[in-house]
Amino acid sequence: MEHYGPPADGDAGAHDASAYDLCDHCGRVVLDEDLLGALVPDSSAVHVSDPQLDGKRVLTACSAEHLAALVEVYRSRPFVREEQWAAKVCRALGDYDEPVPLAVVAELSGLSVDQAQQGVDWHNARAREWRAEYGDPDASGGGAVD
Ligand SMILES: [Zn+2]
Repeated sequence: MEHYGPPADGDAGAHDASAYDLCDHCGRVVLDEDLLGALVPDSSAVHVSDPQLDGKRVLTACSAEHLAALVEVYRSRPFVREEQWAAKVCRALGDYDEPVPLAVVAELSGLSVDQAQQGVDWHNARAREWRAEYGDPDASGGGAVD
């Protein structure tokens, strides 16, 4: 518990932020070394760079109680394949501003063309539901496939 403040020698704002994390349940800021973690299946999750870690979410919590509550939430959440494919497609398209042909999307996201199409369809269907419910979207969806 001795290192509570930012590091004394000044080369890193990055270190500051990475030494803390939030409890996913209550939002409390917790020192990394005091955090509890669990890995749960989550079809909405894709790793930033490692496809092997897709479909898994790291939960962090301030206490065993809060961790258990979080795990329970994800345990009851269905794993939707199309959602996972949509997330892979979104990650693959993150660097593109212009429309990308589906075959390229599939290749970039490590999916078959059929899976990529289903992912896109799933994503578009959610977007339509969202518009129906909340009205005007913020229209930030660059790189979408028609
Ligand atoms: Zn908590």
